[in-house]
Formats: sequence, C-alpha cells, structure tokens
Amino acid sequence: MTVQERLERALAAGRLSHAYLLVGGEAEEKLRTVRQIAAALNCAHREGGRACGRCLSCRQLEAGCHPDYHFIEPRGASIKIDQVRKLEGELRLKAFQGGAQVVVFHPAESLTLEAANCLLKILEEPPGGVYFFLLAAQPALLLPTIVSRCQVLSCGGEQRGEAGVRTLWEEVLASDLGRLMTSVLPRLEKEEDVLSAVDGLMVACREQLVWQLTGEEGLLLEAGRIPAHLVGISLPPAALWRCYRHLRRTRTFLEQNANRHLALEVLLLNLHREVHSL
Ligand SMILES: [Zn+2]
Repeated sequence: MTVQERLERALAAGRLSHAYLLVGGEAEEKLRTVRQIAAALNCAHREGGRACGRCLSCRQLEAGCHPDYHFIEPRGASIKIDQVRKLEGELRLKAFQGGAQVVVFHPAESLTLEAANCLLKILEEPPGGVYFFLLAAQPALLLPTIVSRCQVLSCGGEQRGEAGVRTLWEEVLASDLGRLMTSVLPRLEKEEDVLSAVDGLMVACREQLVWQLTGEEGLLLEAGRIPAHLVGISLPPAALWRCYRHLRRTRTFLEQNANRHLALEVLLLNLHREVHSL
C-alpha cells in the first residue's frame, strides 16, 4: 500500500492523525501526496479518502492558492522561528473556508532549533482541525521530541547503505586507534558521499537511543522495523548521545567545506574515545 493510500484510508475511516512525518522517497511525490490529502480534507464532494478534483476547494489547491494550505519552506538557509510564530497566529484564526487547515514543512530538517522548539509546543497541543505534514530527507537531523509527536511514514527509498553503516560501526567498535587511522579513515575520506555515511551513523545512533530509552517500535523512523545496522551496537544512552553530537558537529564542518581529513580524523578519535572509555 502506498503512503497516499494509507493516508486516504485513515481519512475515510476518520482516523487521520494530526501530525505526520514523511521520510525518504522523492520530494515531489511526497508533496503531491500531501496536496491530495489536503484536497480530500477540504473537498466538497469527497468520496472515501479521495478529492473530487473539480470543486472550488480542489481547484484552489491545484492552483496553489488555497487559503487554508500553509506551505512553510526555508527562507534563506533555514525555516526560522518568526515563520513558525506567524503560522501559529494564522492557525488561531479559524479556517477561512470552514474546513481543515493543512500545514506542510518542507524540508522539516531545515527548521532552526528555536523554530523546532516553537513547533514542538504547537504539536503538543495541536489546534483542532489542523493537520501537520513534515517532509524530511534526513530525519536524523530532526529533534527526537518532534519525531515522537508525529506518525512516521516511510515513503520508500531505503535508508542508504545500511550494510555499509553497520560495517563502519562494527569497525569503530572493534578497532584500535591505529587501525582506525590507517584503515578506516582513508576509506571514509575517499567515500563519494561522505555526508550520507555520517547521516547513516547518526540515524543508527538516534534509532538505538530511542529504542533503548523507550523500547517503542512506533517511535523508530521506520516504524515496526529495527534497522539491521542497529544490531550489535551496544552503547549506553549517554555515550550514544555524545556520539550523536560528535557526528552532528562533523556534519556541520563537512557542510561548511572544512578540511575533510581533519574533520573525519577528529570524528573517529572522538567516537573511539566514547566507545573505549566505558
Ligand atoms: Zn473537490
């Protein structure tokens, strides 16, 4: 069943959640899915979970001018707190056309920390008749508290390089410092897409952390599935959290085109210290 079909079924059954996080897959396709559901929510002649495509509301959505469809995207490099505050004010007014209001954050990982915390407060006490859709390509960059407020739907596109991430973790766990520097570092440095390798490690930390702290499958990014690369990682939560922060910092350095060799060397030294100082 596609994500759209799942959402349509939930809508038809009156079980649509107030917040969804759509991860993976193509951005365009996710946006199309969300527009379809937004249309269905407000359609004058809805059938089951599907919009008619002809009524005024459907046509407005199609034309990108529906007053109750709030599309929030980065202004400059990020989604900022004043954008979320402005949205909050708009949501307090009732829907213009008396139907549902739909809010889309794309991409959700571009929320600044302040903006994310502001959104979190809204999600904790969601206004009635408002539906949130967070779209993310790199869910590991989201606040875990935000993720825990959403129902997570995976839109395909396997988490990249699960096997590779697992191997990398195993090497970090098992290697002495010499081997990390002479064998793991050069390979990581040559990695074509080093950011996604770092992302993979972050996801692994995040999933393991959530799993250890809650034991709830529903909170994992791929609900109900413990990713293969989690097997075999057994660090206590505090160490996982520190590893996560090292990875996050390294990611920022790499994005800012810092010296790749140095950034990765520091990362491996830090991870090694976390793993072996227990
Ligand atoms: Zn319609």
